[in-house]
Amino acid sequence: MNSMNVIRGCHLRKVMMTRDMLYINGSWTASTGESALLVENPTSEEIICSVPDGTIQDTDLAVEAAKNAFDSWSKSPIQERIRILHELSESFKKRSEELAEIITSEVGTPIEYSRIAMVGTPRVVSKSYAKLLDSYKWEEEVRNSIIVKEPIGVCAFITPWNFPLHQIIGKVAPAIAAGCTMILKPSREAPINAFILADILHEIGLPDGVFNLVSGRGSTVGSRLSSHPDVDMISFTGSTSAGIAVTEDAAKTVKRVTLELGGKSANVVLEDADVIRAAKSSISACFANSGQTCSALTRLIVPESKISEMIPVIVERVSKYKLGNPMDPSTRCGPMVSASQKESVLEYIRSGITEGATLVAGGPEDVEGIEKGHFVRPTVFTDVKPSMRIWKEEIFGPVLCIASYKDEDEALDLANDSEYGLSGGVWSSDPDRALQFARKMRTGQVSINGGPFNVSAPFGGYKKSGNGRELGVYGLEEFLEIKSIQKPIQ
Ligand code: NAD
Repeated sequence: MNSMNVIRGCHLRKVMMTRDMLYINGSWTASTGESALLVENPTSEEIICSVPDGTIQDTDLAVEAAKNAFDSWSKSPIQERIRILHELSESFKKRSEELAEIITSEVGTPIEYSRIAMVGTPRVVSKSYAKLLDSYKWEEEVRNSIIVKEPIGVCAFITPWNFPLHQIIGKVAPAIAAGCTMILKPSREAPINAFILADILHEIGLPDGVFNLVSGRGSTVGSRLSSHPDVDMISFTGSTSAGIAVTEDAAKTVKRVTLELGGKSANVVLEDADVIRAAKSSISACFANSGQTCSALTRLIVPESKISEMIPVIVERVSKYKLGNPMDPSTRCGPMVSASQKESVLEYIRSGITEGATLVAGGPEDVEGIEKGHFVRPTVFTDVKPSMRIWKEEIFGPVLCIASYKDEDEALDLANDSEYGLSGGVWSSDPDRALQFARKMRTGQVSINGGPFNVSAPFGGYKKSGNGRELGVYGLEEFLEIKSIQKPIQ
């Protein structure tokens, strides 16, 4: 090892590290298989890590460990769960820079955004569950019944790469709080942060078997977890197509399935809005994390009368939206996570041009001066029509689609014209008018005049954006069963 820097089985050479063990029943354990999955840095296109390509046997061992640990952990004192969640939050704080750099290496997220959203949010979410447990009511009385809330059991988590640690913690923290045990299968694109999480949970003394980590493919580990008879709940975040496959695999065991899926969210500017502010804000609302955000506001819906005022502001802002090395703190847009993701986004941009939308910024050409990395130019289309693919389908890259409307009814129809319903935005100088409009949007979240993300508010989708909610008390209750005990009436 000599020249290597070793962090609990993680060998950091200049760029390459190996995490060759799975975390099962409180120990780093060799996989029963021999293959590995390689992790690429999407900026340098170098392989930076390899992790076990977990097998069905590995998955079964992890489920068995979680099952055995459940009885004791489900009865653990609430104060102990609060301690673990506080220490988890503190560990994220201490290891913030390391984790932010790792996620930037795996995903290509600009480093400033990694610090805030990729690590800062999991830190706050863990703490929010510690606080929530302080006052959570596990029992209540309804006439002659005692209503008791109990942990659902063994939970399996299948997560994507785009906000990897945030999506993991949105499941792990409430599951710990609820008294559930768990198996995590992270994405193959960005699994390293999950290995660091296992290190942290081990260090802070989470009992053996409560948290288990099996890296691997969706088609093996993911599918086995979904269909496993000893898994009581599956919490999935990812694409709608994989969510459907998970649901089908889970159906025969009648386990609880929660799904956080794709989105194609609308950002509606009403006539009386501060249109310059709305125009400026619409860029980061769509392009944050290089457009690879499920809740990105990718469809900007503006009054016909304001379009000529807004477009130049947007085009000017996008021309200054700095694309490049995500480790440079001034970079706003990094690469796409992979070559295939880049190709998929470029294909959408080409389809927008072919279908007749007007390209006002960006486009499918290579980025000048960048030799390596899966970069796509931040792109804006106007004159986008509801029949176009770029209007209907989730692109998952830095592509903003702008449509115009004549009256507010048409604006609402356009906003709700999607098979998804994850997020949304509305802009108006009249708070009541904005609120009335927000109430009519068929979507799980709406931000008024750029209102910020709230880690204690439920997050989740209508329609094909999913089932169930994460974060806050609603996120906790997804992990609970509810029992009614009837007392005789005296
Ligand atoms: P993906 O669906 O390809 O993969 C997500 C996870 O599912 C991965 O761990 C993958 O290995 C696993 N998987 C794939 N097929 C599976 C199968 N048949 N059975 C079991 N597991 C399977 O998604 P992705 O490309 O990693 O992430 C991008 C997608 O995730 C986008 O559609 C995005 O909108 C969505 N997303 C949704 C939310 C949300 O909260 N609603 C958050 C982030 C991302």
